[in-house]
Amino acid sequence: MIPPGATIGILGGGQLGRMLALAAASMGYRVHIFAPEAELPAGDVAAQVTRADYADTAALDAFAAAIDVATFEFENIDVAAVRRVAARVPVRPGPAALEIAQDRLVEKAFVAGLGGVPAPYHAVASLAELDAALTVLGTPARLKTRRMGYDGKGQARIASPADSARAWAELGGVAAVVEAEMAFDAEFSVLIARGENGETAVYDVPENSHVAGILDCSRVPASAAVARQSTAAVALARAVAAELDYVGVLTLEFFGGADGPVFNEMAPRVHNSGHWTIEGARVSQFENHIRAVCGLPLGSTMLTAPVVQMRNLLGEAVHDWAAILADREAHLHLYGKSEVKPGRKMGHVTWL
Ligand code: ADP
Ligand code: MG
Repeated sequence: MIPPGATIGILGGGQLGRMLALAAASMGYRVHIFAPEAELPAGDVAAQVTRADYADTAALDAFAAAIDVATFEFENIDVAAVRRVAARVPVRPGPAALEIAQDRLVEKAFVAGLGGVPAPYHAVASLAELDAALTVLGTPARLKTRRMGYDGKGQARIASPADSARAWAELGGVAAVVEAEMAFDAEFSVLIARGENGETAVYDVPENSHVAGILDCSRVPASAAVARQSTAAVALARAVAAELDYVGVLTLEFFGGADGPVFNEMAPRVHNSGHWTIEGARVSQFENHIRAVCGLPLGSTMLTAPVVQMRNLLGEAVHDWAAILADREAHLHLYGKSEVKPGRKMGHVTWL
């Protein structure tokens, strides 16, 4: 058990780290952020910050020496950096979960091995392989880089076979997976917290809507169509968490298909589709992640209201903060980012 008063190291300094740090502070922990960016939403609310590159081994060692336990809030951290920290202090979840989630191909195969059903897919390493895969999968299809994709980046839609060369070039000719574009009624996610002793706590399944590959809104309860699929999806999430001996919050994204949940991807961390839990659940995903990382008992995931809705403030939408506050029921969260870019996650609003 890592008792309150101890220092939790977080690799990554974005809004997820910020909300984790706030939850940790409210339980009496100190947080030390390690990230390379000049502007760190998490650094603004942390006790300590190391601003260094993930390849800076001396900085990583000094960070590890200054903390009691570590976690990460960003998926595309070099696994070598996480392993280096893990040699000195416990890192939860472990590097194995990160390694799997960093590669879409490995991730799909891993989850399929546990009974998950991904969209039909092929690994492709050349344009010729892509064209061959499209003859099997058909179009429309989605080409996705195996590594480093997020918020719809590293993806190209292939509307017809004639589109393949453009899509291949657009992603830079790197190792990729191509998958069938699924016709679905809805998207949803499963957020599961797993403690050091294997206990689990699962949130009500949010229904998620995306715009241009970026999460726009999450809502609980989900529609009946999603609710029918949530039991199977939650069972899969439990199996994934158990297989990885996972500690912390794990997220799985799904398409609600005609024949049951289609696994899209997983994130070995707290997730944007769980931001509503700050006000909408008895204990938030952030607090439960911190509890798990510190070996504490998990808290209740029960809803605090019959309906909870979260909307992201993307790009220029952040300027609406004053109008949002005019609504007494709106819970405004801003991440303190100074540069507004189209599609950038600047904040979110939750309504109970
Ligand atoms: P990211 O890592 O950017 O979140 P995702 O694979 O989750 O990447 O894709 C982002 C969004 O794009 C999904 O939430 C979904 O709306 C859409 N999308 C991705 N793959 C497919 C697919 N095979 N069929 C239909 N829509 C898809
Ligand atoms: Mg996604």
